[in-house]
Amino acid sequence: MNTSKRKIKDAPKVGMVSLGCPKALVDSERIMTALRSEGYQFSNTHEGADIVIVNTCGFLDSAKEESLGAIGDALDENGRVIVTGCMGAEPDQITEKYPKVLAVTGPHQYEQVLEAVHDALPPVHDPFVDLVPEEGLKLTPRHYAYLKISEGCNNRCTFCIIPALRGDLASRPIHHVMYEAEKLVNAGVKELLVISQDTSAYGVDLKYAEYPWHNKKRKTKFYDLCEALGELGTWNRLHYVYPYPHVDDVIPLMAEGKILPYLDIPFQHGSPAVLKKMRRPGNQIKTAGRIQKWREICPDLTIRSTFIVGFPGETEEDFEMLLDWLDEAQIERAGCFKYEPVEGAQSNAIEGHVPEEVKEERWHRFMEKQQEISAAILQKKIGKTLPVIVDEIESDALVCRSQGDAPEIDGNVYCNVVEGIKEGDIINAKIVDADDYDLWGSVSNS
Ligand code: SF4
Repeated sequence: MNTSKRKIKDAPKVGMVSLGCPKALVDSERIMTALRSEGYQFSNTHEGADIVIVNTCGFLDSAKEESLGAIGDALDENGRVIVTGCMGAEPDQITEKYPKVLAVTGPHQYEQVLEAVHDALPPVHDPFVDLVPEEGLKLTPRHYAYLKISEGCNNRCTFCIIPALRGDLASRPIHHVMYEAEKLVNAGVKELLVISQDTSAYGVDLKYAEYPWHNKKRKTKFYDLCEALGELGTWNRLHYVYPYPHVDDVIPLMAEGKILPYLDIPFQHGSPAVLKKMRRPGNQIKTAGRIQKWREICPDLTIRSTFIVGFPGETEEDFEMLLDWLDEAQIERAGCFKYEPVEGAQSNAIEGHVPEEVKEERWHRFMEKQQEISAAILQKKIGKTLPVIVDEIESDALVCRSQGDAPEIDGNVYCNVVEGIKEGDIINAKIVDADDYDLWGSVSNS
């Protein structure tokens, strides 16, 4: 069979109406180029298309009239219409007159137009001719992938310039995230690593908008996302979760095995005075008690965090409070950074910058304390049988990770090589040894 003929026959067809100035024309061309690269075909008639995009112009009243007329024609002759362009900046003008349009996006919003087309008319992947695999190009090994759920951040931590660089929180609607997650799973991904700047704030900016996925309405919200991911059968790992009160709600999903019993919470400090100077979100003062409650619900929970020592104004007393906090919370994994001024950060202006040698000394004391805690926790795992995922096969060892280990940042479980086991397999390992950060396991071939 001639594959290119088959593709043209099966490919979804888009009709394009481009109105207005040359800038709008270039926008239309970019939309068409992106759609063509995804395998869409174009139709010269509304009747021959599966969907019609109308790129509108709103410069003059006469141009608006023309745009509204073009939308009306497309609705009459096709019925499935997406509107973009200058008139999309005021969507009410369109939706009041034509409530049946599928989506309205503003000028230069290529991504949103493409997402609206994907929702209404998913692309058909053709493995014979498409240059890009359906799940996109990935830099990670085949069996795990990062799933970005939002961009930007609404917080204003004084040491951070991310909001200035990337703007306020902009969440991806839940069905778009799940569509990507499902494509990754179909391509063989076994572990999804959820990332963003502030994962537990997911959806606040969209007012938790609801969209259908797998015949059920889901909110663009942290809990609903965790619940939906739990239906994929993958290992789902949550990164950058701030301890807002609603984080408590997902702990039962961890106990049920739907989400990995793993929380990456960047606590940054244990002293209320330093946290205040950092302007950190979430009330961390009572967090140690909350961690204890989470562990009662989900005893296998692993908590990973990062901390900053030597923040401007940090006193010896503040630092000791941090060490006490570590003793009390007994978190499994902790990274520590010495504070460094970043150009443009508000923390540069805070009084009491800590001398480098004091930062260095505190960093060593922190690492020593955490090393002790980690070693004691890992010793208790000896004798247990844990599910582990195989990351790499070396000549003398399987390099694996337990549910408590994220790739690149946490430890490993090194196991004996067993014939037939492949990268990405999830196997059971009996833990036989431990050091400060890693485990050793024994795998049998049954
Ligand atoms: S929450 Fe994270 S990304 Fe947002 S301002 Fe604070 S450190 Fe930066």
